Amino acid sequence: MFVIGLTGGIGSGKSTVASIFANLGIRVINADQLARDVVEHGSPALATIVERYGNDILQEDGSLNRSELREIVFTNVSEREWLEQLTHPLIAQLIKDQLQAVSSPYTILESPLLIETNQKELVDRILVIDIVEETQLQRTLARDDSAQATIKAIINSQIPREQRLEAADDVVDNSGNLEATEREILRLHEQYLLLAKA
Ligand code: ADP
Repeated sequence: MFVIGLTGGIGSGKSTVASIFANLGIRVINADQLARDVVEHGSPALATIVERYGNDILQEDGSLNRSELREIVFTNVSEREWLEQLTHPLIAQLIKDQLQAVSSPYTILESPLLIETNQKELVDRILVIDIVEETQLQRTLARDDSAQATIKAIINSQIPREQRLEAADDVVDNSGNLEATEREILRLHEQYLLLAKA
């Protein structure tokens, strides 16, 4: 199985690009979705989180209050590390399970933390979606209802742009319009089909 890791900072355009690949018939595994699955209602990981932060971390229906947890871990590095040690191995296992079940010419693993975690070891090639930080902030603010300070903290918790670009095999500049990005993805798709066959 030929696997492309699709990554980029918050608001860079990962989901946008992932749906372009999906429309081309390529299977996309979404690490963010799996990160939600490992703490779903009734999961052992959620019970561990409640042990640490108390019932206040839950919503009335017993599911995780994600924005509450986000505020805790993105304003406190040691809490973030604790949460990552709990969830990252579980997420990696789910990714491996899903990769095994795939039948697609190649597979996209969409992950905001591809380079930061050992998820990078699960992929053959790294595709980085790149935009300048100012655009990243503006697009994320327009999309989410998070506070500007929270978004900035998330940007700062992710690896710097230069480091991400250094790790890239391919880079898509998503600072232009969607048509330009789509053209670039079509070009990469042809290349990936060839690489997957080789
Ligand atoms: P990510 O998944 O990396 O967090 P998204 O794909 O959600 O980023 O993109 C962030 C926001 O920017 C979304 O609202 C998306 O619709 C918008 N967006 C993405 N690419 C472009 C583009 N080329 N031009 C304008 N808006 C874009």
